[in-house]
Amino acid sequence: MRIAGRVVGQDRSEDRSIAVYNPFTEAVIGRVPKATLEEVREAFATAHAYQPQLSRYERAAVLNKAAAIVTQRREAIAQLISAESGLCIKDALYETGRVSDVLVFGANEVLKDDGQVFSCDLTPHGKKRKVFTQRAPLLGVITAITPFNHPMNQVAHKVVPSIATNNRMVLKPSEKVPFSAILFADILYEAGLPPEALSVITGDPREIADELITNPHVDLVTFTGGVAIGKYIASKAGYRRMVLELGGNDPIIVMEDADLDEASTLAVQGSYKNSGQRCTAVKRMLVHSAVADAFVEQVVAKTRAWKFGNPADASNDMGTVIDEAAARFFESRVNEAVAQGAHLLVGNARQGALYSPTVLDHVHPDMLVVKEETFGPVSPIIRFNSIDEAIAISNGTAYGLSSSVCTNRMDYITRFVNALHVGSVNVREVPGYRLELTPFGGIKDSGLGYKEGVQEAIKSFTNVKTFSLPWQ
Ligand code: NAD
Repeated sequence: MRIAGRVVGQDRSEDRSIAVYNPFTEAVIGRVPKATLEEVREAFATAHAYQPQLSRYERAAVLNKAAAIVTQRREAIAQLISAESGLCIKDALYETGRVSDVLVFGANEVLKDDGQVFSCDLTPHGKKRKVFTQRAPLLGVITAITPFNHPMNQVAHKVVPSIATNNRMVLKPSEKVPFSAILFADILYEAGLPPEALSVITGDPREIADELITNPHVDLVTFTGGVAIGKYIASKAGYRRMVLELGGNDPIIVMEDADLDEASTLAVQGSYKNSGQRCTAVKRMLVHSAVADAFVEQVVAKTRAWKFGNPADASNDMGTVIDEAAARFFESRVNEAVAQGAHLLVGNARQGALYSPTVLDHVHPDMLVVKEETFGPVSPIIRFNSIDEAIAISNGTAYGLSSSVCTNRMDYITRFVNALHVGSVNVREVPGYRLELTPFGGIKDSGLGYKEGVQEAIKSFTNVKTFSLPWQ
């Protein structure tokens, strides 16, 4: 791990380190230390004692240089992402492009000053003054905790806005994929980031999570991961700012006028890319019964054509899921739905952590495979008869992250945009469509409504100060 840029814990015993496995070969690809509480406290104390003073020009230069390094080394970075996560090389290469986008957008945003000016002679009792706003970094340190599903991009979405705003961050990546996070930090140090601005702590959350949330130097906890842990953090954090990006259960809704070739392509891509492990993956396919049979036929054909297997094989469209336990879990969820009357049309084959793309038809909204988040390459199809029913089913889970709507009818589109309880509606696109710059995040159990995306994260990582001046 890295404490203010220093390499720490290379020589820990097996007992005080965590093995990281390649989910496909099951080989140990390396070990990371289990940080002690003293080490976590040291990371916060060092960060707190330091206040970055980089000019906007200097921050943009660090971020642009890091983007250039990521682009130049994309093959090697993709191989590391793939080795520790089981994501196929295609997905991992795509992720390197997203990381580079986050860095470039961060660099561009730094160059803008979003300060506001208010004239004060707006009312009869107004004065000849002006009120100005400016953003300042937080007084304390930011804790960032990230999930396994995009090993480097999830990290980039926390670290880049922190650098852009001259904050200090202590990052704890997922213990399943820590090496991509450590590599990202090393790239930033190489690009000129003052090392005190970023530490990467690895370890067992049962030992260190509470310290990461409640250390007195922590001003803000930014967390991406599952609902249960997000709510645990909310219960612990007390009087601190929190950005929680939690699970999703996103539908693709296919209306009777949809182009079924386009809709089925979006449905399978949304369901299987990144091995189905995206918070915004398609987790439910809601189809109008008038076109359901034709849609299902195309989804099945495209699922059969989705090439999966060895993640290192560049011709594969999908690698493994994160580990065998996850694959077994999907298998059991699908078996349970079949026992309750769903029809298995293709898939549900498992070998270790390799789980085949799976289509389930005639799924009922109450089955756990769609009521809860199934974070893998499973396509459960639910049929409906009217837009009211589609909206009710879509809104009928605890989640509210994103959605996809396939129709060309403006009356349907406006109705969905207004009525779906989600953070995003993408018309004729996958639910996961976004720019790394645009506001992103969910409501209900998917998040408290604070958004990510480089621009919004910059807002939540800063304090707005106003100052006013006499103005003749
Ligand atoms: P997870 O919740 O199991 O773990 C996330 C992180 O929390 C890891 O770093 C883990 O070590 C840490 N953690 C574990 N126990 C903790 C504790 N008690 N206190 C604090 N941190 C603790 O999630 P995961 O399995 O890595 O990722 C999958 C989940 O993440 C899915 O639910 C997915 O939808 C969600 N996700 C959400 C978004 C979003 O932007 N909304 C994006 C990606 C993933």
